[in-house]
Amino acid sequence: MRPLYFDHNATTPVAPRVFATMRPLFESHFGNPGSAHIWGLQAKKAVDAARARVAALIGAAPEEIVFTGCATESNNTVLFGHFPDRSGHLAVSAVEHPSVLAPARALSAAGVTVSVIPARPDGVVSPSDAADRILPQTRLVSVMLANNETGVIQPVADIAALAHAAGAGMHVDASQAVGKIPVNVDALGADFLTIAGHKLYAPKGVGALYVRKGMELPPLLLGGGQEGGLRSGTENVALIAGLGEACAMAAEDVAREAARQEQIRDAVEAGLLGLGYDAMLHGEGASRLPNTTFLGFAGFRAVDILSECVTEDIGCGAGAACHGADTSISPVLAAMGVDRTFAEGTIRLSLGRSTTLGDGMELVERLGGILRRLSR
Ligand code: PLP
Repeated sequence: MRPLYFDHNATTPVAPRVFATMRPLFESHFGNPGSAHIWGLQAKKAVDAARARVAALIGAAPEEIVFTGCATESNNTVLFGHFPDRSGHLAVSAVEHPSVLAPARALSAAGVTVSVIPARPDGVVSPSDAADRILPQTRLVSVMLANNETGVIQPVADIAALAHAAGAGMHVDASQAVGKIPVNVDALGADFLTIAGHKLYAPKGVGALYVRKGMELPPLLLGGGQEGGLRSGTENVALIAGLGEACAMAAEDVAREAARQEQIRDAVEAGLLGLGYDAMLHGEGASRLPNTTFLGFAGFRAVDILSECVTEDIGCGAGAACHGADTSISPVLAAMGVDRTFAEGTIRLSLGRSTTLGDGMELVERLGGILRRLSR
């Protein structure tokens, strides 16, 4: 049976051209960018080129890009950096990734007032709900561009306008959006924007943070002063160059590839909804990532579907997890108020560059067989 990988929102493979770009930087061009000799200069050149390529993909200037170790680090840098005195007000959406929600909880425990902007049943964080929670004393608003589970694309530009009117900074976790849909920091009104390398065919262990020119942010890591002093530590040259190459690849065809994947995704959704089970498409009607479908099947448990998927060589994600006899549903589905019947049987399918229509149809067939077996 050929493996069907439908979990690109968890991580993507490293693209061959990304690997090819990185390889010499591990071997011959291994220098420290801080060194004043040819090896150092080669490494610095690679980092500078990558910075320009990341910036170009999101409409930023190269000096506004800071390389980090991962999206989690980018998010933590922005949130903790805004509240050095652990006071003031932060507004975050209820459907943020744990790398935003956990720092928000830690800040709240330390004295920061935190407001959570709710999500509607379709997963959208509405500007009117945001308006109620953005206050004159708000220092930072953090709302993701695309949700990792539902794929719902949030009305970030409208929320950023509210944040700016209140004098607050706007942080956008775009980890799931960059490389999947066109992203432009000015159109979004983002002051800070998070990028995750391994969600767009670069390796794990590298991320980036866009920091709008003129915005102040203290560093999370102190040391040798690399990355304009915001992120000390010798640059991870090869992985940074890999991220640059991945961004260049996305810049070439992001809209075309999005349209291609959306067609296959829609066919998969239609196929699965047509199997005749009582199913719910989370985020239906909302603007969504073209590669993501998050589907709840009433009367099933995601854990059972996933364990059958392992046998059938399918890689996908779940919207609920089992802890002994208990099932916990994902915080995102809980925030959307999804009925437990559907939440417990929710699986996430996320497509990628290598996914073909044939893969999509084969997936529908195999999942159909799994659901038939489980419902007996
Ligand atoms: N933000 C979002 C929306 C994500 O989906 C993820 C990863 O799933 C992250 C942040 C964190 O990425 P990383 O684990 O690479 O730091």
